[in-house]
Amino acid sequence: MRKPFVAGNWKMNTDSQSSVNLAGGIASGSSEVAGRGVDIAVFPPFVYLPSVIKALNMANIAVGAQDVYFEQNGAFTGEISVSMLKDVGCTYALCGHSERRHVIGETDELINKKVAAAISGGLLPVLCVGELLEERKASQTNEVVTRQVQNGLAGLSVEKVSAVTIAYEPVWAIGTGLTATPEQAQQAHELVRKLLAEMYDDQLAEEIRILYGGSVKPENAAELMRQQDVDGSLVGGASLKTDDFLAIIQAAL
Ligand code: PEP
Repeated sequence: MRKPFVAGNWKMNTDSQSSVNLAGGIASGSSEVAGRGVDIAVFPPFVYLPSVIKALNMANIAVGAQDVYFEQNGAFTGEISVSMLKDVGCTYALCGHSERRHVIGETDELINKKVAAAISGGLLPVLCVGELLEERKASQTNEVVTRQVQNGLAGLSVEKVSAVTIAYEPVWAIGTGLTATPEQAQQAHELVRKLLAEMYDDQLAEEIRILYGGSVKPENAAELMRQQDVDGSLVGGASLKTDDFLAIIQAAL
């Protein structure tokens, strides 16, 4: 049985005060359920990671980074390593979020290096995959998602891949107010789970959590997460509002 997992990606939002307020509100509002019925994580901007971790005050809420670099240290101006993230108390890192793929231009190859480095250094990667609107319209969803999962996990053993969470996030649904129907989400999640069984084995495929992301809100969260292969949500916009994020957490129970 996979425990639900609800994660909030704050993207390039909040400031030093509002990030701490948001973290504090989530911690106090989820204290009854955090880590018990549902795993919870937040992904603040890099610069607010230490203060958010402090504000969470040992609440059972994990913290992750929105990105990570694959090299360990050295002349990589602007990048942040796995060990730096571990050093400040991060548990997770997003790898290959659609905004990094399509705005910053990250490739599957780079994302694979990030996933591999995160696992080797003891961070749990959340590998984000999902098709563009034109790809869905051209019936290429399965092909794109398959390629992103295969390339994102290339070269990783079954033991290493067990550290991964996958987030299926159709790009046309991210930040647009459009949401995949529960059936569309289930179809893509089932595809990913079957693919993992083919690439690795049934046990791994059964154990890995696959989150849905794309305009998840309190109003649609329960129905999406009720789908058999949808194990939780990666939430963007709604994770910036304490009450909305708490309502999505409740919907996962
Ligand atoms: C995201 O950032 O991963 C996301 C799904 O954003 P939103 O919920 O705003 O669509």
